[in-house]
Amino acid sequence: MDILLFLAKRFIAGETFEQAKVVVKGLNDAGFLVTLDMLGESVTSKGQAERARDSYIQLLGDIYKLALNSTISLKLTQMGLDIDDAYCCENIMKIAEAAVNYKNFVRLDMEGSGYTQRTIDIFKKIHEVYPENIGMAIQSYLYRSKKDTAHAMENRHRIRLCKGAYKEPPDIAYPDKMDVNKSFEDIMKELLLKGNYPAIATHDERLINIAKTFARENNISPDGFEFQMLYGIRRNLQKKLLSEGYRIRIYVPYGRYWLPYTTRRVRERKENLFFVLKNIFRR
Ligand SMILES: Cc1cc2nc3c(=O)[nH]c(=O)nc-3n(C[C@H](O)[C@H](O)[C@H](O)COP(=O)(O)OP(=O)(O)OC[C@H]3O[C@@H](n4cnc5c(N)ncnc54)[C@H](O)[C@@H]3O)c2cc1C
Repeated sequence: MDILLFLAKRFIAGETFEQAKVVVKGLNDAGFLVTLDMLGESVTSKGQAERARDSYIQLLGDIYKLALNSTISLKLTQMGLDIDDAYCCENIMKIAEAAVNYKNFVRLDMEGSGYTQRTIDIFKKIHEVYPENIGMAIQSYLYRSKKDTAHAMENRHRIRLCKGAYKEPPDIAYPDKMDVNKSFEDIMKELLLKGNYPAIATHDERLINIAKTFARENNISPDGFEFQMLYGIRRNLQKKLLSEGYRIRIYVPYGRYWLPYTTRRVRERKENLFFVLKNIFRR
């Protein structure tokens, strides 16, 4: 556990907002946009969900007061999706309403495939009321995502494209990384051409280079989309994109509930796993 905690420190900006705000300020001063994730997921009681909702509303107020250049990202299972869909929707609606008051933007992260359709349905309800202040994520590893993207583009939904971080069965998601990458490339091009200010969320330099070339060849302005990367991953690439004049937003997680997020980061890169194993066997 202490090895995971050590690794978590690389990926997480601290356990409190007081710590995270220093990181956000530093990133903003360097020219990066930010989205803050107050860690938490899979809550099972209304008390937990409401505390998370209220903390996010407070966070929007703090971002505003401190004039930080940061949106927020949240997970639906943190807002009560495992309790009841309508209840979860109400909680997020309140956060979206606060985002309107504080002139901010809420991104709904996408979780495992058991939640995909329910996340889209809740997103659409909130988008009808607050179209400018809400966006969601699409995962290129899911077979359904091309269709979901087409629907999103027809409705001017703001999409963050990522590969997908959950373990999914082969009847739902591409098992082969090459196919995930190909799907990412296809969806990315569609979004660049016809999407509403898409976010290209990857550390994959090959795909990033394809995005840059494609945007140039199609006269898509660098202001028409943004790259997004996770805090602590490929920092040199983050700086390089910034120096080339691209918009880049860093996803900054913070909070005490760091274990599931860190576990996903360890799982998706074998070097991280080797680091953990090496340190276990060294004892
Ligand atoms: C801003 C942002 C938001 C995201 N939101 C969601 C979401 O809502 N839902 C969801 O399912 N997933 C989300 N993800 C995670 C995403 O789905 C992938 O799991 C993750 O980004 C790794 O894939 P990759 O695109 O970077 O490509 P990969 O092919 O996995 O990695 C490309 C390169 O990036 C570096 N890298 C990638 N991951 C790591 C790591 N963990 N540690 C160290 N180096 C690494 C390595 O150099 C690697 O070679 C998000 C990712 C980003 C950047």
